[in-house]
Amino acid sequence: MVMKSEKARGTIVAAHGNLMTIRFEGVVRQNEVVYVKSAGLSLKGEVIEINGNEAKVQVFEPTKGVRYGDEVEFDSDLLTVELGPGLLKRVFDGLQNPLEDIAEQSGYFLPRGVYLDPLPRDAKWKWTPIAKVGDKVERAHFLGWVPEENIEHKIMVPFNFFGKGVVKKIADEGDYTIDDEIAQIEDEKGNVVPVKMIQRWPAKFALRFGERILPKEQLVTSMRVIDGPFPVAKGGTFCTPGPFGAGKTVLQHQVSKYAETQVVIVVACGERAGEVVEILREFPHLDDPQTGGKLIDRTCIICNTSSMPVAARESSVYMGVTIAEYYRQMGVDCLLLADSTSRWAQALREMSGRLEEIPGEEAFPAYLATRISELYERAGVLRLYDNKEGSLTIGGAVSPAGGNFEEPVTLSTLAVVGCFLGLSRQRSDARRYPAIDPLISWSKYIDRFAEYGSDEMKERVRRITVAQNMIFKSDEIGKKMSVVGEEGIAIEDLIVYLKGEFYDAVYLQQNAFDPVDTATDMERQSEQLDLVSKVLEKDFEFKDKEEARKYFLTLTDKVIQLNYLSKDVSIYDQKKDEILNMIEGA
Ligand code: ADP
Ligand code: MG
Repeated sequence: MVMKSEKARGTIVAAHGNLMTIRFEGVVRQNEVVYVKSAGLSLKGEVIEINGNEAKVQVFEPTKGVRYGDEVEFDSDLLTVELGPGLLKRVFDGLQNPLEDIAEQSGYFLPRGVYLDPLPRDAKWKWTPIAKVGDKVERAHFLGWVPEENIEHKIMVPFNFFGKGVVKKIADEGDYTIDDEIAQIEDEKGNVVPVKMIQRWPAKFALRFGERILPKEQLVTSMRVIDGPFPVAKGGTFCTPGPFGAGKTVLQHQVSKYAETQVVIVVACGERAGEVVEILREFPHLDDPQTGGKLIDRTCIICNTSSMPVAARESSVYMGVTIAEYYRQMGVDCLLLADSTSRWAQALREMSGRLEEIPGEEAFPAYLATRISELYERAGVLRLYDNKEGSLTIGGAVSPAGGNFEEPVTLSTLAVVGCFLGLSRQRSDARRYPAIDPLISWSKYIDRFAEYGSDEMKERVRRITVAQNMIFKSDEIGKKMSVVGEEGIAIEDLIVYLKGEFYDAVYLQQNAFDPVDTATDMERQSEQLDLVSKVLEKDFEFKDKEEARKYFLTLTDKVIQLNYLSKDVSIYDQKKDEILNMIEGA
């Protein structure tokens, strides 16, 4: 085992963009952190290949001016994430530098070679002990907790603590900083380990202590098209591929605001240059519809500024997942949203290219599929040692060039996720938002919910299945009509077509910018589905096609108006009754 004191040293012998070849003496480990000492700066990087006494290192920062012979220090530590109270409400870059602190000093762009403390050192946290002196503990057991926004932030036995331990000392209730000692634990060999509220974990390793269990509870997102036909499980995975401008980012924002989860981690690898700055400016001001406070209070954002090279983009995704896993370990429901994973995959491609690895499809490295599956694998429901559960749901946007899903990143993602929400250009062009295409999307969770769920859930799934069948038939008839015209089809077929369009317009589509329709709770969704089902399951008799069209036009309009009405206003019931009468009487 390498001791901390035996840090290897080396010098640069070749540079290729951000990829450095370093000749070293000592012991070097894969993924070890290094600091390149160049022109008075100290630039952080990571070992990605070792060959004899030469290592390839990717540097996380611009490497302009780096020279042959520059010195390199190996840290003997893997790329780690700092974990502890104070992660929420923060915005970090891909190396966990707190961007807001930087913004105050230098307008979002950190000078090279400067690294700031991720967590505030001077903040005092109100500590309440859980464990007592003499308790037998293992890693990830709770020692105490501090309030952090809306959650009980558990302080745990360090994750790198091996074997069984005994609590020797535990701090009294009171205010402490993350650097204060709050406990001492004796390990099996009799060593006494001091514990602080802060600890570290290597970003590329799954942080998971407990028993993995099957995700079978629904994560309600408040978006009908997801919660209805394509539901997501708490602890499950989903992806939202779509062409540029189809609404992936708006969708992720909606989900981050309204999904029923306690903690949201947003990893933003911006598509457009200004997007990240927009997030930084806007996000802190968004209201949280669930708590009445600010959304940022239960959110941690990791973003890549455009000035950072691709290597930091790669690490930001792992950093986000690790932070989410940390909260799951406390028994919290977490949601990680990554926008877009294609940018992350491109970072892998660029680095692989520099390493001159044998390229796979579309020049992505051959291990792309493995990396993608390893990432989504980190989602899941965990039963902790105290029998409570925590969950981590992962949702990734994918932005394939030209919206063509037959490309490696989309295909590899589809192979591993439990739910596919495919956005289509056709729907966004027709302004059918959210542009999740009901003809191509799927969820593997829906059958599971029907199997394990309540009778009410079973009935929901039955109704949704009827509606989904209708939309497929409706689409076929619509295509036929575009060839032969309305005269060419029977009135029965026209009615099926109109029913499908009705379901689409009043249920699948949802107006993100209407204050009421923007999010629909499960109770109201059930009510809306009830109404839709009444229409879909009714045998209408119209005198002619014209009458059928007019009827559905009016009905659709009325139901959309109802969707925009708050249930608290007095005319709501009256409007709803009008609609029900219109359906009964037809
Ligand atoms: P992408 O991330 O897929 O490139 P965006 O999420 O940035 O696309 O969306 C592009 C534009 O489409 C938005 O600025 C907005 O005008 C429109 N849009 C997207 N989703 C919706 C929605 N649900 N309702 C209304 N407009 C939307
Ligand atoms: Mg986007």
